Amino acid sequence: MIRMEYTCVLCPNGCPLVAYVDDKEPPEITRIEGSVCPKGDDWVRQEILNPMRTISSSVRVQGGDSILASVRTDRAIPLAKIMDVMEEIKQVVVDAPLEIGAVVLSRPAGCDTDIIVTRSVRKSA
Ligand code: SF4
Repeated sequence: MIRMEYTCVLCPNGCPLVAYVDDKEPPEITRIEGSVCPKGDDWVRQEILNPMRTISSSVRVQGGDSILASVRTDRAIPLAKIMDVMEEIKQVVVDAPLEIGAVVLSRPAGCDTDIIVTRSVRKSA
């Protein structure tokens, strides 16, 4: 049995959570302590079994007033896929202009997310 400590990040309470896990494949969570609400238990389960993250990065822009546009995933992706997704983002080159929310890449590495622009880029004069 492994004891794992977490701080729930879902709200400002930041509850300290402890999970007890049987070291199997997949791991079996036997007990979770410390959550003030059920969301904390669900979050710890996901952190242990399939941690998810949103990521931010930038893509290259041609013909714009900036050579880069900041981007992010529009939803969380599995932590294990982040390097693959970053590799695909690195290959993206888009033409200006770009508006906030524009999709520059869909379903990178097979993940259920789009990569969207978070800062607009105007065409260069
Ligand atoms: S367990 Fe519930 S109350 Fe505690 S930090 Fe997480 S979401 Fe907030």
